Amino acid sequence: MTKTELSKYKNILEAKQAELEQLVRNREGIAIEKSPDALDEVQHAAERELAIRNLDRESNLLRNVRAALRRIDEGTFGVCLHCEEDISPKRLAAVPWTPFCIQCQEMSDRNQSGDGSESLDEILVNAA
Ligand SMILES: [Zn+2]
Repeated sequence: MTKTELSKYKNILEAKQAELEQLVRNREGIAIEKSPDALDEVQHAAERELAIRNLDRESNLLRNVRAALRRIDEGTFGVCLHCEEDISPKRLAAVPWTPFCIQCQEMSDRNQSGDGSESLDEILVNAA
């Protein structure tokens, strides 16, 4: 990967990191907010649950983004963490913070299928 490409990804990832940090901070506020009114409290509980679910997803994504920025500094960005092959440029363009190539991602998705949970890619795409 060229220096120009790397700095392009670095910019994208830093912008994403800043955006996610902001989101996570705001959600933490909702998640701990308490209301003295009982009716409000019911409404609040639902909002809180949603906020916590989103917070989970955004924290995960933030971790991936930070790890990707670290890999840029270490010079291993764009290389699959599992098989150490280059991740395709197309995949990186779509999901710059991905730690895995498409083959390894699909393998891990298959292993996880059946429990009804979202795949990592779905999480990433939904959060993008
Ligand atoms: Zn791989």
